[in-house]
Amino acid sequence: MKSYQGSLPGFDFLGFNIRQYPVGKYHSRRGYKTLIKPSKDSQKVHYQRLRQIIDKRKAVSQDDLIAALNPIIKGWSNYFSSVCSQKIFNRLDELVYHKLCRWAKRRHHNKSWQWISRKYWKTIGNNHWCFASNDFDKKYKLFNHAETKIIRHTKVKGVASPMDGNLIYWSSRLGKNPQMPRSKAFLLRKQKGKCNKCGLYFLQGDRLELDHILPKSNGGTNRRDNLQLLHKHCHHSKTRKDIQNLVINTGTHDKGCTTEERSEGKLSCSVLQTSRRGDSSA
Ligand SMILES: [Zn+2]
Repeated sequence: MKSYQGSLPGFDFLGFNIRQYPVGKYHSRRGYKTLIKPSKDSQKVHYQRLRQIIDKRKAVSQDDLIAALNPIIKGWSNYFSSVCSQKIFNRLDELVYHKLCRWAKRRHHNKSWQWISRKYWKTIGNNHWCFASNDFDKKYKLFNHAETKIIRHTKVKGVASPMDGNLIYWSSRLGKNPQMPRSKAFLLRKQKGKCNKCGLYFLQGDRLELDHILPKSNGGTNRRDNLQLLHKHCHHSKTRKDIQNLVINTGTHDKGCTTEERSEGKLSCSVLQTSRRGDSSA
């Protein structure tokens, strides 16, 4: 859109700028598309705040400066992590970098730039320009705006409603549901509503079971990172394979197997009961 009577196109709301942009000449769909970005005012206020923090801390150690800057950068970036912010994040990182260069040069005005850059910027992973005092501990590394993952909001599907009793859809979406055990809802969200063995989406009415990725008989734990949700039939075939592997490895079908079977049976029972309860409420 074009500016009208001196005012810029689009409008600002809660720090976001909402504006329609004409789509490119070679796009299949002509017309306009709406983009939401961090507004110019909020960028300005944020950068002013960072500048003030750096200016006030001319003589403090690098660790203290990083500790003062990190929470503000993280908070601001997280607030804008669901809209078109990538270019703005990159630009802000560049501005902060130049400001920190001036901060470092002021402290050592009789040293060379090579010496200063080696003192204050370290190589961590593939990034050769990390403002950090220590290349081993991430605690003392300046957080970059661009490190924030941009995750777009997913709209609720069609006519779905939290009252419709579709436990699997709502647990996968929110990671919690009062009618579902917390561990199961957490795993549904982690697995994005899919079975880890066959890769198919869980549907309402499917029988889900908790499985130990590394069987308990092989030293697997009950921790969340060793648990996954599977269809009942997928779980059965996986357990059968686990037992076969164990028999091949040890040569015997020892007691460990039966304890694994029993404990999994116990877990899956609780899951099944809740899913039945969910179905009945639907
Ligand atoms: Zn499956």
